[in-house]
Amino acid sequence: MIIKPKVRGFVCITSHPEGCAAHVQEWIDYVKAKGPLTPGPKKVLVIGSSTGYGLASRVAAAFGSKAATLGIFFERPSEDGRPATPGWYNTIAFTNAARAAGLYAKNLNGDAFSDDIKRQALELIKSDLGQVDLVVYSLASPRRTHPRTGAVHKSVLKPVGTSYTNKTVDTDKGIVSTVTIEPASPQEIADTTAVMGGEDWELWMNALSEAKLLAPGAQSVAYSYIGPEVTWAIYKNGTIGLAKNDLERAGKNIDSLLKLNGGGRAFISVNKALVTQASSAIPVVPLYISILYKLMKAHGTHEGCIEQIQRLFATQMYNGKTPTFDEAGRVRIDDWEMRPEIQNAVREIWPRVTTENLATETDIAGYRTEFLKLFGFGLPGINYEAETEPHRLMP
Ligand code: NAD
Repeated sequence: MIIKPKVRGFVCITSHPEGCAAHVQEWIDYVKAKGPLTPGPKKVLVIGSSTGYGLASRVAAAFGSKAATLGIFFERPSEDGRPATPGWYNTIAFTNAARAAGLYAKNLNGDAFSDDIKRQALELIKSDLGQVDLVVYSLASPRRTHPRTGAVHKSVLKPVGTSYTNKTVDTDKGIVSTVTIEPASPQEIADTTAVMGGEDWELWMNALSEAKLLAPGAQSVAYSYIGPEVTWAIYKNGTIGLAKNDLERAGKNIDSLLKLNGGGRAFISVNKALVTQASSAIPVVPLYISILYKLMKAHGTHEGCIEQIQRLFATQMYNGKTPTFDEAGRVRIDDWEMRPEIQNAVREIWPRVTTENLATETDIAGYRTEFLKLFGFGLPGINYEAETEPHRLMP
């Protein structure tokens, strides 16, 4: 079939297998060009490995340090001629490239919150890898079925306490409007923390520890976001921010666990705002990202997922480096985003953005290009007019 993008609001319901493979190859090439991590991670479990920051972590570990990787993700293969989700094609491309380079790469497609996937992962690590020395926790999910209670928790992106009104952009139509979001109920707050908080990260790490599958000195990292004041009501102080506070709480417990395991560590890395499937669903944030991209590109400091994670690994975790923590014990790889010259300019531009000047005041074009790339569209060298086979088997 000939596969073209079909954008519906903040999602694209199609994806292109060769385009996704070309996107993954761009990331592999970037990591290779940066040179090896010495020393780097050797045996890595990535939970949420098929897109965004998790995929970047897997690529950086495998191609920056020849690491064996086990990837966990939740993706849909093609069905009835409908293309698979991009993470499916990304993972096929990654796995083929890793194995062609002589690296171990295995995958588990299923619900990372479930006991069953944890059990399967533990078995694979035990039989194939012995132990892991890095666990990357990079899930972004709209829901979680709790493995003990069976309750289905749904996460929401809402302010806490009072309603929030601000500008937002329909990135597809290019219309800037005002949005008012009502505050979350106590139940919604608790549900969002159950999904995006730290309980599941702790369950993973405790299970790995009990099964003696953590190598001495093993590290674990999970990703968070803080961002500028203009987004705080919906992010940092909203339901997702409270969930991230719980992720930090869990990180401290896991850090204690890993310290006892040969002096390892766990921490939160606060990453830059980037176009991913998860972030495009958050109101207000895509408009901020469009402004941010314009400014950071002009300053020569723009980074994508792969640049962020390669920098995290190379300057904070490996190459003989140790993390530099902020006052709350977090690594700040969002440092370039938060520089005063960038944030002051965001504050200046924000009030004057309208539908009419969106193209000149922001990098909405760059946002759209990045968004389509997530689904394998707009990659150089791909003939999007050609027939392609959507049905691809996971190697
Ligand atoms: P993403 O949507 O690109 O990736 C999410 C990953 O989780 C995918 O691999 C997906 O398959 C997997 N996943 C989702 N539900 C799952 C389930 N039940 N079982 C197994 N796998 C599942 O998201 P992302 O933006 O890369 O986010 C990853 C982390 O980075 C999140 O914690 C997010 O808050 C954080 N972060 C994102 C940004 C940003 O701007 N995108 C900034 C800072 C931090």
